[in-house]
Amino acid sequence: MSMSFEECVRPRSLRNVPQIADHVMDQFKVSKKVCVVTGASGGIGRAVAEALAEAGASVVNACRSETPELEAWAANLAQRCGVTIVNRRCDVTDAVQVNEVLAAIYKQFGRIDVFVANAGIAIPKSIADQTLEEYHEQMAVNVDGVFYCAKCIEPIFKKQGFGNFIITGSISGRVVTVPIDHTVYNTTKAAAIHLGRSLAREWRYFARVNIVSPGYIDTAMSTCSASINEACRMAVMGRQGDVTELKGVYTFLASDASSFITGAEFTVDGGYTLP
Ligand code: NDP
Repeated sequence: MSMSFEECVRPRSLRNVPQIADHVMDQFKVSKKVCVVTGASGGIGRAVAEALAEAGASVVNACRSETPELEAWAANLAQRCGVTIVNRRCDVTDAVQVNEVLAAIYKQFGRIDVFVANAGIAIPKSIADQTLEEYHEQMAVNVDGVFYCAKCIEPIFKKQGFGNFIITGSISGRVVTVPIDHTVYNTTKAAAIHLGRSLAREWRYFARVNIVSPGYIDTAMSTCSASINEACRMAVMGRQGDVTELKGVYTFLASDASSFITGAEFTVDGGYTLP
């Protein structure tokens, strides 16, 4: 932020350090927090929901599709971790639905501490092959969806005076991954990352905003042999990541252990983007 010399020397009142535990292991606890995770029906989102529940949080899985398998998994997780797990149907491309779901969660729990905007899709095709519908579909989920979630959670965070928004970006928002044509997907992720960084400033008085940018992770999105080969070739670790290897970073960001971190992007890519 550029400032004049006069602005620099004008005295300002420092904001208070938040009340967080002194012991580091206590800082990592997320018990008593209420966390919402979009796209929790599978892949990375499910691992994040599991991580937060294992760390003691009440978790709301905001899922586009609700299946008996999801219900059974959530019930098992709640029992195993001794926490409350709720499934809510939520298509992030429907702003009205996102708003209703958040209102219902707030009514039920009286607070929302952490929102993980994770839902995303990829339609890997060249611009020439991609239809306009496919372009709009990716923009709708990966960009509009994150925006709608941010817009709908903002009044709640503001009213509470605290909040924590975590976006699942991607290394492809910063580097052009090969060999699959991901031009539109890459563009959506670049937008989501920058949305997050900008929001960190906009929400500076009441909420933190950070981004996790995974590299190639073994989920339904990255099953093709080209993805697997590319991860082997480019990642220093010579493989795709497993979803369990993302649990730590999301839990860290959701917890008080990261209380002085906002506007940051955490790359978890097995060394793929090393120069
Ligand atoms: P998956 O395909 O396994 O999961 C995507 C999730 O997003 C699903 O739960 C899906 O729900 C949900 N979703 C899609 N559209 C919507 C929507 N309109 N409303 C609500 N939920 C929706 O992929 P990943 O777990 O890998 O992807 C999760 C995030 O991670 C995405 O943002 C992706 O871009 C990002 N990412 C993934 C990488 C990878 O290599 N796997 C690398 C970098 C980033 P449903 O089951 O209903 O389809």
